[in-house]
Amino acid sequence: MRVTEGGVELEVPGEQTEGVEESVFYNPRQELNRDLTIATLRAFRDRELRAESYLDAMTASGIRGVRAAADGWDVTCCDVDEEAVELASENVARNGLRETASVEHRNVNGLMHDEVFDVIDLDPYGTPMPFADAAFANCRDLVCVTATDTAPLCGAHFNSGVRSYSAVPRNTDYHPEMGVRILLSALARSAARFDVGVEPILTHATSHYVRTYLELDHRATSADAAIDELGHLYHCEDCLYREHDPGLIADPIETCPHCGGDRVLAAGPIWLGPVHDPAFVERVRGELPDAFGTAEKARELCETLETELDTPTHYDQHKLCRNWGLPANAMDEFLADLREAGHAASRAHYGGTTFKTNASVDEIRAATEDNLD
Ligand SMILES: [Zn+2]
Repeated sequence: MRVTEGGVELEVPGEQTEGVEESVFYNPRQELNRDLTIATLRAFRDRELRAESYLDAMTASGIRGVRAAADGWDVTCCDVDEEAVELASENVARNGLRETASVEHRNVNGLMHDEVFDVIDLDPYGTPMPFADAAFANCRDLVCVTATDTAPLCGAHFNSGVRSYSAVPRNTDYHPEMGVRILLSALARSAARFDVGVEPILTHATSHYVRTYLELDHRATSADAAIDELGHLYHCEDCLYREHDPGLIADPIETCPHCGGDRVLAAGPIWLGPVHDPAFVERVRGELPDAFGTAEKARELCETLETELDTPTHYDQHKLCRNWGLPANAMDEFLADLREAGHAASRAHYGGTTFKTNASVDEIRAATEDNLD
């Protein structure tokens, strides 16, 4: 089957699944992820002028590498699967990019230890952690990471999450954000082993994956600063009260200071720091031409990210209202009431009913309940 995306054309072997033609080497649901990758690479090149080389570490059909090469990057595609390597090589040639894109057939951890790249892109199936150490050991400027194991990340598959991320994830009403912050915590700790500090400049989560872009700083003091962004989170399952506490040593609370209940969960270490740089996200938004298949959706996502508050958890308006036995109202009205009462409040990109605020659960209710009817 032939696929056209972002101005490049690929041939991928198709298979009929339930009457729909699909390919194990090409996932159309990841087009938004790839459009944002190209826009981020463009914005990043303005930020870091020396950045030239890009490693597509799990290349499959070659789609990411081919798109990056067509955009002027010096690309290496790598895959451990022989069939993928053949396919990616054909797709590089099909687009006339043999001069700027090479395809390697090997274990990418070995390649990352042997060669230095300015940008490394990890897009594995499942957890990226088996590749994180090798990526941070030698990468110069930017590590891009996709994690598709959202159930382990958010605590729904608890043991798997603990094993993969050396942290305690908890299943809360803000599960996508739990996933983001468990992933960032594990990546920051992996980078710190090599005296590398990470700064997340763009991060987004959908129901299918978490994606983050980490700018690197090769100084031990930066690695220390990243570790200082880690901490723990305590969450009451009854009233949705939550608090966070910086530091690698946990100090869990036994009873909820709000409702007095004892169903308090502790999660961590999670990343408590910022998950994106709003000025950078704005530049990324400016690099999404109409020709990109998901341009409109990607720009909307960037807009939400630019204004999203920098709190480590979000609320779900419907869950809160259900807890209070009150009907939910329109999100804009709800947020306006919070701001009217003097609190900071924003939408969150995790879903239409999600929002962020610095107000406590009681303060949220006091500010909004007059208009919940
Ligand atoms: Zn409580």
